[in-house]
Amino acid sequence: MYIKAYNIEITGIVQAVGFRPYVYNLAKKYKLKGYVKNNSKGVNIYLKGSEYNISQFVNTIKTSPPPLSAITSISILSAPIKNYSTFTIDKSEKSSSEITLISPDIGLCDDCIKDIENPSNIRFSYAFTNCTNCGPRFSIIHSLPYDRNNTSMKEFEMCDNCLKEYNTPTNRRFHSEANNCKKCGPLLQIFDNQKKLLKYDYPIDFTIAQLLQGKIFAIKGLTGFHLVCNGEDAVAIQTLRERKNRPYKPFAIMVKGLEDVKKYCFVNEREAEALISKEKPIVILKQKENCALHDEISPKQNTIGVMLPSTPIQQMLFNSKINVLIMTSANLSGLPLEYENHNAFNNLCHIADFFLLHDRDILIPLDDSIVHVVNDDIIVIRRARGYVPLPFPFKTDIDIFSAGPQMKNTFSFTKNNYIFTSEYIGDLNNFQCQNKYNTIVSHFKKLFKFAPSVIAHDFHPACYTTYYAENIENILKLQIQHHHAHIASCMIENGIFEKVIGVAYDGTGLGYDNTIWGGEFLLSTYESFERIGYLNTVKLPGGDNAIKEPWKMAVSYIYSSYENEEEAKETSYMLFGEKAVLLFNVIKNYNKFMYTSSIGRFFDAAAAIVGINEISSYEGQASSELQALINCFSNASYKYLIKINDDKYIIETNLIIKELIKDKLKNVPPEIMSIKFHNSIINFTAEVCGLISASKKIYKVALSGGVFQNSYLLENLSKKLKEQNLKVYYNKLYPCNDGGISLGQTVIANYLALK
Ligand code: ZN
Ligand code: FE
Repeated sequence: MYIKAYNIEITGIVQAVGFRPYVYNLAKKYKLKGYVKNNSKGVNIYLKGSEYNISQFVNTIKTSPPPLSAITSISILSAPIKNYSTFTIDKSEKSSSEITLISPDIGLCDDCIKDIENPSNIRFSYAFTNCTNCGPRFSIIHSLPYDRNNTSMKEFEMCDNCLKEYNTPTNRRFHSEANNCKKCGPLLQIFDNQKKLLKYDYPIDFTIAQLLQGKIFAIKGLTGFHLVCNGEDAVAIQTLRERKNRPYKPFAIMVKGLEDVKKYCFVNEREAEALISKEKPIVILKQKENCALHDEISPKQNTIGVMLPSTPIQQMLFNSKINVLIMTSANLSGLPLEYENHNAFNNLCHIADFFLLHDRDILIPLDDSIVHVVNDDIIVIRRARGYVPLPFPFKTDIDIFSAGPQMKNTFSFTKNNYIFTSEYIGDLNNFQCQNKYNTIVSHFKKLFKFAPSVIAHDFHPACYTTYYAENIENILKLQIQHHHAHIASCMIENGIFEKVIGVAYDGTGLGYDNTIWGGEFLLSTYESFERIGYLNTVKLPGGDNAIKEPWKMAVSYIYSSYENEEEAKETSYMLFGEKAVLLFNVIKNYNKFMYTSSIGRFFDAAAAIVGINEISSYEGQASSELQALINCFSNASYKYLIKINDDKYIIETNLIIKELIKDKLKNVPPEIMSIKFHNSIINFTAEVCGLISASKKIYKVALSGGVFQNSYLLENLSKKLKEQNLKVYYNKLYPCNDGGISLGQTVIANYLALK
């Protein structure tokens, strides 16, 4: 037999996913000698054996790699024959500047569920059960390569039995870095809200009993704390709302399995796929009418966010008596998610009655991810646990850091021909969130060793991220317009490199003409864009204040929609009373208000006129409640006008506003007004796209911006554009809302820096 030797380098997500044991078993199967080890590029293999067997070995890796792995490259180089008589798993090499890809945190796998539910298994009822196919990863790693010593599992020394599993190639926990059991793993403990340790032998049983009594718990999850109460207890839910100061914003629920979800919600095949996926995100589903869920969970919505358990603790909370749990991020309104025991105590003691904690540290917090299904596509709305830090392939020689937007912040950076995007960080409106931003940037910097030469940030001078960028010295700074970044995020995700008609429908973003944009048609490439169409502008009465009080936007729209001032004033009065007349006069006389073309604000105005939402307690409330009214199909819509001015398309909304008000005064049912309003937007958007396409000979339309979270709008607009023979693209892997901005900023910055 002719013996050969090869050195094989495999890159991609190949660490922390059971790759080495897989290679070990494969080498045994093909009678190959040598070693496998992790290094900072990925996995390195030295193989000695027959040429035929080696090629079989490589083929198997290519065609059926371990389930959680994702191979990006395999390099095979012939090597000198060395004196190996067995195949071994060797120690990892020290890290260099090259990085390897890290697996996200993965929800509990089916095999581990069987372990914790089997009374004769050593991990029966064990709260920290995991294996090479599931469990904590990214959130417990402080440096690379991924070895137990570089994680927060370092504190826990494996017992003999765990060590045996770790060293047994045929075991599911072979080289599972987070391996542990009752004897050697983290400790589960109950505390009351005075930080007093309560000694119970079965903390889970205690928790279940107290939840059934209506108590509220703070429970440490895979990547952060949740506030939890019994989802079938209306009083407990209301108490949680009051203590959290969160009157309306929907809570997510958790149920045990897919069959339980179907009791409450409609679940199609794609939605089921999302629910049981290893990422275990919150999936937004349509509630069944008259389902047993309390209205307090998701008030004034016809949808609800549902997730399945992703940790053993969550799995075990569902016994025969608990069917539904409220499972909401544990944070104070507007403040970051809690993930450290100490801070959780201090900040949540007035909300939670009890704390279910453990002593395995979470090193970086990640919120639950949120997805929904539109047009049979799984669309990510919030990208965090389960998805981060998976990167996006992008060829570049430039080291870019994109600081991201002010709201729903994420940041991104380039490294080794990838764009890495951080988890959802949130709104950077207070110093706690800004601190969190700084901490997470530092964590990523340390972990991925990125050293940017270019920093991209929003065009808005008052953004925290602009301030952050300005304070970095000796670096090329690039300002990037918000809506251009939205469109670029959609383009790159869909692999588009030619000019598109970008439709950016959004809340807020500063435009080049010093107005607030958000209802824009941008002819876009990565390098530049031309603003070719927009909604007619109206005054934004009082900046952010107007966003929280949609009736103010309604008055502003009324002011600019009627030719006759007295009629406008009277209409404002009829709809909103005396306060509207006062505001009307201010809008008329005060000349320093900014103007806006934001379609988010147009939605606010419509919601207020329809009468469902005069005050918003959370972002997007007005438009989501307006969408929730739709329960039938109709083609009815309102009239509008498209003005062509200087090769620009301006959508005149005054007819829509006037007809909406007419309907309101005629007591037309709100659901009909909502559907007509939505259809009007779909109609004028499709018409403007058609006009631009005909004059510019561009046939690709990229839809982005937070308003496209509206599934009725996305679904029906896509359909209409396709009927006009246009190709439609929208965000799927990255949020269409501001969570996708940093991805777009990165790609634009790459092209601008090359100029
Ligand atoms: Zn597992
Ligand atoms: Fe935006």
